[in-house]
Amino acid sequence: MTAGLDAMLAALEQLLPDRVSRRPADLAAAAHDASSLPAARPDAVVWPLSTDDVVAVVRLASERAIPLTARGAGSSLEGNPIPVRGGIVLDCSRMTRVIAVRPEDLQVDVEPGVVYAALNRELRPHGLFFPPSPGGSADVATIGGMVANNASGIYSVKYGGTRDHVRAATVVTGTGELLRLGNRCRKSASGYHLLGLLVGSEGTLAIATELTLALAGRPAARRQGGFRFADATAAARATAELIRFGIDVAAVEFLDDRTIAALNRFGAFDLVEAPALLLEVHGSEAGVAEAWQAAEDVVRGTGGVPFVLPEGRDAWTIREHATRAIAALRPTAATVRADLAIPIGALPTLVARAAAIARERALAIHLFGHAGIGILHALVLADDAERPAAEAARDALVDAALALGGSCSGEHGMGLGNRRYAAREHGSAVRLMQGVKALFDPRSILNPGKIW
Ligand SMILES: Cc1cc2nc3c(=O)[nH]c(=O)nc-3n(C[C@H](O)[C@H](O)[C@H](O)COP(=O)(O)OP(=O)(O)OC[C@H]3O[C@@H](n4cnc5c(N)ncnc54)[C@H](O)[C@@H]3O)c2cc1C
Repeated sequence: MTAGLDAMLAALEQLLPDRVSRRPADLAAAAHDASSLPAARPDAVVWPLSTDDVVAVVRLASERAIPLTARGAGSSLEGNPIPVRGGIVLDCSRMTRVIAVRPEDLQVDVEPGVVYAALNRELRPHGLFFPPSPGGSADVATIGGMVANNASGIYSVKYGGTRDHVRAATVVTGTGELLRLGNRCRKSASGYHLLGLLVGSEGTLAIATELTLALAGRPAARRQGGFRFADATAAARATAELIRFGIDVAAVEFLDDRTIAALNRFGAFDLVEAPALLLEVHGSEAGVAEAWQAAEDVVRGTGGVPFVLPEGRDAWTIREHATRAIAALRPTAATVRADLAIPIGALPTLVARAAAIARERALAIHLFGHAGIGILHALVLADDAERPAAEAARDALVDAALALGGSCSGEHGMGLGNRRYAAREHGSAVRLMQGVKALFDPRSILNPGKIW
């Protein structure tokens, strides 16, 4: 690869002067994500500013079969943007234009480097927002990374995940071909849903250079609060009941007692250390009052007791620290995580199974997540000696989720951490995925070594 790489870098330096780097600090920054997975340095980092730049870089890489890994903020948790085969990291974080806001269609066109929270600040004067907030990473995660990981978040119960909000995309395939996928319609019956393949493809099929997103109107009123439970299974049961009874909740987040204890230690939030649900409802003043009452009735019926959030705190400014608060308990330990998704009715069974796995293996498992959409994160802190046991517990949790009709990844993607489960979850359908990859990226240069 070296001769081809040197020739490519020489061509790139001509093409994008000052936007190609081989500096050790830049290579180190592009070598990892927010997970504890091993870092891998690329040979160079390139910062495109336009679709034309991306086309030019991909064509050069394709001609020489140089690996090319797109990157947003690098906030992934499964090693998704780690350039395990070296080559070029295509850092899209400088493509930050909000190209057009169309309030009449509830849509926005953006470049992939726009940061989630910055987009919502820009949409606020229009009375609009982009709902699938990735919570703890909302201040850094880029739209390109969210689309590539099919991210979701606290409001996905009411509004859906990222895939539900992507209407169209301009993309560059692995051969450097420029394509427009999708259209501006909410519903269409025209041809294969190639856009749907792009969402969640973790930069392995094509590089997105422009995205058309569907937005939601900002609610006139909202109310949030917390409920604590005697045990985690009761909290899971309450969540399943809220959804089963069709209560119009915008967010239902679950935190187990260990996670709350970690949050208290991290931020001195002074929360009661019991399993809890954090709820939010959206609508008109009257609609919110009605939905809150209905939600409270259901939750109290399953043993939930309301608690008051710390004075002046928004629930999500506490919840967003969950991942960091757990990691901070033992800063030198690695975080072994499972990002499970299951059908909502199976939530109590999975929570009970996680408790059994923790007991059997004498491990501390922290459980929390977007329970209202059936997503549960299980985090275990482990040093080198503890790691095999922690990974065996993760395998057991994934097996339990799959047996319940679930998935090994609710929202973080397959990346490096979950790819070991691809065949277990998808069976021979993995072959079809590989065939799709070969069509988009015949030389396999785009983010190689990921997903399966
Ligand atoms: C504290 C914390 C909390 C989090 N909470 C959530 C959460 O609630 N929900 C959730 O879903 N995730 C969450 N995450 C994970 C992560 O923040 C999201 O997956 C996020 O969307 C990643 O965006 P990014 O810009 O950092 O992408 P990166 O990590 O840089 O990249 C992600 C993937 O996208 C690809 N990619 C990037 N740009 C492009 C492009 N232009 N075209 C094609 N592919 C591209 C990369 O190759 C990679 O495979 C959390 C992470 C942290 C650290």
